[in-house]
Amino acid sequence: MIEVVPIPQLRDNYAYLVVDPQTQKAAVIDCAEAAPVLAEIDRRRVEVVALLPTHHHYDHVGGHEDFLQVLKVEVVAYHGQRNRIPGATREVQEGDEIRIGSLLARVIFIPAHTTGHVAYYFPGAGVVFTGDTLFVAGCGRLFEGDAKTMMFSLQKLASLPDDTKVYCGHEYSQRNLEFALQLEPHNRALREKYDRVLALRARGLPTVPSTIGEEKATNPFLRWHSAELQANLRRLDPNVGHDPVKIFAKVRALKDAF
Ligand SMILES: [Zn+2]
Repeated sequence: MIEVVPIPQLRDNYAYLVVDPQTQKAAVIDCAEAAPVLAEIDRRRVEVVALLPTHHHYDHVGGHEDFLQVLKVEVVAYHGQRNRIPGATREVQEGDEIRIGSLLARVIFIPAHTTGHVAYYFPGAGVVFTGDTLFVAGCGRLFEGDAKTMMFSLQKLASLPDDTKVYCGHEYSQRNLEFALQLEPHNRALREKYDRVLALRARGLPTVPSTIGEEKATNPFLRWHSAELQANLRRLDPNVGHDPVKIFAKVRALKDAF
């Protein structure tokens, strides 16, 4: 059992309060603003044991200092990135495990958006927090890595079980799906996903979680093998070729300009 509470942050970010209902111990993923997170912790009377940032960008760690003035907890950073994560107390690497009550989070190293980006995967609960690497129907920008590195990172996430719930760092789903539909207008799973997302947004609700299975069926950054996507890319750029990395890079470049 796991409880995941999305807490809207800044303009379109999410922090997540992750609670073990058995022990009422909890962790916070990507704390950009401390006040709304601390308010949720108070309301639920949970005991936070760790801050788990996916990467060092301010809209994922900007709340650390204020948070730590109120609650002293462990702060995780990827190996060698301690100086980029405010308040870091513990460095982790691929495969390391973090205990939150009876819950176990496993670190998955997924660089490219930044060199120290990680996901937190809870295998027992079937939940993964993907930060700015895998979004609903999108992926992060390549600030500190190339297309090949991002493909490898996304492939690691795509290899998790299909029913794994995906919680990402931003509410970008609607716009991402509008881009995806330009490349695969006949993908029925994509159209259905877009309708569901529009209905959620119309009610002001978050579009997370997605699932790994849904992402493999709809996310253009996991669909470089799609004949329809490739045909539409070639219409735009006859020189794109057949190399999956080049196809991926082209999709990323088009999204950057969308
Ligand atoms: Zn970022």
